[in-house]
Amino acid sequence: MKKKTMLIDLDRCIGCFSCEIACKNENNIDLGVQWNKVFTMGPTGVFPDLEMYFLPALCQSCENAPCVEVCPTGASYINEEGVILVDHNKCIACMACISACPYKARSFNGKNQVIEKCTLCDHLKAPDKPACVKACCAKARFVGDAEDPQSDINKKIREVGTKNIHTLPDAGNKPTVKYILSDKTAKWHDRKSWVFFPEKD
Ligand code: SF4
Ligand code: SF4
Ligand code: SF4
Repeated sequence: MKKKTMLIDLDRCIGCFSCEIACKNENNIDLGVQWNKVFTMGPTGVFPDLEMYFLPALCQSCENAPCVEVCPTGASYINEEGVILVDHNKCIACMACISACPYKARSFNGKNQVIEKCTLCDHLKAPDKPACVKACCAKARFVGDAEDPQSDINKKIREVGTKNIHTLPDAGNKPTVKYILSDKTAKWHDRKSWVFFPEKD
């Protein structure tokens, strides 16, 4: 089964927020809401040995998506490419999926009374790419099916090696979004839990 997802190279990300802005523009997202948010991780360490990196967070395209499991109406579903989407005609804004998402990657659209999230820009069909991927000046974002040997994302994972690949904490939901971070940049922060708007370390 296909599983479209995203790979973000934190060795390259410069925290410019272009992806955040591009996502909001492309998807007409309301003020104060973000489907894609860049966090600053650190600085950690003791001067002069300080480390810091930027971590763009978005829906983690879970393999065992709890948001889909809990949805009572079938509004949250997985399409043929493995993208997790919300059918707004079926959404009753019960908020069950918001509670179920371990990363709080979903948000409530008060104007339309529905739940929203990153769609991997499903409306932009290949060879076009998601807005955040196109806007990234550091060329740090890759999209595709990680299992397809021909995809950019699969090639990049093989190039950097598994020791430099990380995911957000897995509570059984199996996040498929992957991050590249090598020791030359910084040590990966292993949070016990993750929320989209995390408390300061
Ligand atoms: S808020 Fe909408 S998408 Fe979420 S669980 Fe309820 S009906 Fe499903
Ligand atoms: S990150 Fe949250 S919204 Fe995205 S698939 Fe996983 S549970 Fe669902
Ligand atoms: S893939 Fe599209 S919807 Fe998802 S974070 Fe990027 S721009 Fe936003």
